[in-house]
Formats: sequence, C-alpha cells, structure tokens
Amino acid sequence: MQVHTLFTGVANTFIVENSRGVVVVDAGMPRQASRIVNAIRARGHAPQDVRLILITHGHIDHAGSAVALKKLTGAPIAIHRGDARLVETPSLKIPPGRSAATEALGALTRAFGWVMPLETFVPDVLLDDDQSLREFGFNARVAHTPGHTAGSISILCDDGALFVGDAILNLVHVAFPLFWEDAASARESARKIHALKPRVCYTAHGRAFDASELDAFIARQDARD
Ligand SMILES: [Zn+2]
Ligand SMILES: [Zn+2]
Repeated sequence: MQVHTLFTGVANTFIVENSRGVVVVDAGMPRQASRIVNAIRARGHAPQDVRLILITHGHIDHAGSAVALKKLTGAPIAIHRGDARLVETPSLKIPPGRSAATEALGALTRAFGWVMPLETFVPDVLLDDDQSLREFGFNARVAHTPGHTAGSISILCDDGALFVGDAILNLVHVAFPLFWEDAASARESARKIHALKPRVCYTAHGRAFDASELDAFIARQDARD
C-alpha cells in the first residue's frame, strides 16, 4: 500500500494505492477535484481506478470536492452515518472552539463562511464502527472516533497505517482538534486511537506522526487527567 499526500486547500487528501485500485481519503475544499484526479493520473492510474471516496467527517475542508470527484471517477462516497446530516445542507458547520482563541477563530470563519457553500450530497455508503472496507479493495476497517463531530471516523489499514481525520492534529505538535462538538468523546477517541496501536497516523491537518509521538501525546493526557 502506498500513501500519497496532497494538500487540498485546508486539509490533506490521501491517495491510497494498492494492488486492487485507489481509495481517496477526504476530498478537500471545493474546486479541488481536478487537482486530485491529476495527482491520481500522475501516479499511473485512471480516474476509474478509484474504488471509494472515503470522507472522515462532514466538514467542507474534507467533503468540499466529494461530489465533483464522484463525477470524475464514478466512485461512491462513504461517510459515517453520524455525519450524513452535515453534508445535507450547504451551510458552514464549525463546532465550538477548544479554547477561547480557537473559538474566536471559529467565529471569524463562521462570519465569512458563506463565500464557499458545500456542494451537498446523499452519501452512497453509510459507515459504521468496525466496518470492513475490503469490498472496496481496501484492506482496512472503520473505527468510529467521535468528538470533533459525532460521525468522525478513523481508518485502520492492515499494514498499521491509520487515517485519523481531525480526531488528532499535528500542526505544531500532536494535539486535539481546534474545534469539537463533544470534548469528552474526543478525549475518549484519542485513547481509542492509541489502543489501535497504529504504526503511523495520517492526520488531515499537519504532518503524519509515528507511534512514539502518539504515545507522548497520550502520556500528556494521562498527566492532565
Ligand atoms: Zn473538521
Ligand atoms: Zn479539517
């Protein structure tokens, strides 16, 4: 399995290649679909090789180009059933800030959010915790990791790679998301992610981090609790 990271406006999109085709993890901001397809072609694949468009949660920086990407590839869009509501309406949804500073940032973004509405969609596949993705040519399972949103998921691949979406960020260092719907479940999800013992975590915001960096982050949480 090969993972290619592409920055799509605000978050990372991952193009995951294996012997049975390509899976795209998160579809970036609006108007990123042709860039994603160009990156897929550059790696020697046709757009039709995409088996699944996997959205870690329903925010615009992850789902913004999902519909356009589906048109270009023919691949179905999958999202956890808990976040289907977020992609049904075009309005910007930013959860409460984790701190006063991030809440101020969120308020500013909400005020200007109207400039870029979400292209809404009805998901083709509604995911649940522990669901296998093997039928889509992806040797991986869904892990429900709510908190940032109710339907946030992580994707655990058989080779130990874990896509965590916005459950854990690594902008400056490994940390909780800037915004969260439910702090308690976000903290619980971080422990769940740690318990999955990933070899490497691919976050949507910032650079990928390894098991030792995840251990250190969880140790800091233990010290706090
Ligand atoms: Zn998000
Ligand atoms: Zn995000």
